[in-house]
Amino acid sequence: MAAEDGTGDVTDQQIDQQIAVLNNTFAGNEDSNAADTSFTFSLAGVDRFYNDTWHRDGASKKYRKQTREGGANALNIWLVDFNYLGIAQFPWDYTQSPGTDGVRVHVGSLPGGSIQNFNLGETATHEVGHWLGLYHTFQGGCTALNDEVADTPAQSSPTDGCPAGRDSCSLPGLDPIHNYMDYSYDSCYTQFTLGQSGRMDDMWAAYRG
Ligand SMILES: [Zn+2]
Repeated sequence: MAAEDGTGDVTDQQIDQQIAVLNNTFAGNEDSNAADTSFTFSLAGVDRFYNDTWHRDGASKKYRKQTREGGANALNIWLVDFNYLGIAQFPWDYTQSPGTDGVRVHVGSLPGGSIQNFNLGETATHEVGHWLGLYHTFQGGCTALNDEVADTPAQSSPTDGCPAGRDSCSLPGLDPIHNYMDYSYDSCYTQFTLGQSGRMDDMWAAYRG
């Protein structure tokens, strides 16, 4: 997955497609049961930096502090090549660490990117879910509290692929393998729930509004 030094640029078209994926997924357009959240995204600008260290997420806190733009309500997405699909900063950390707020997303996860099964742009949807205060659906494992959202059934561990009918906890409900906050393939992801949508609204009001 590692790109050669000096490569890894993404096209303007890929960036536009990524914004479209964010809007499509947060609008609940991938499943009739998906929540239509209140969140929409528009591109405020693109900055390109030609720095191999930053490209590999090196000196990460430093480059984020140096390049971040806007206030608590501004979603900064840094496109990098690292050993993760993505990493997000939670909203409750903004007050303490405003300079690093945002999400880091692997360049290969953008629509048309290089990472097989994870190149429809839904890594960004997952990371922005964290940025808006959501936990993984497997947070807390097989416990009633789980991810602190009532309408996402508990699951014991991350999902790999798209295993229909997976039921990893004895608590009610099948595993939410189609939920953007699991680890399923992009093609398997179809929804946020109403409970997650409400939690994101609450988090926005508390930390970003
Ligand atoms: Zn995650």
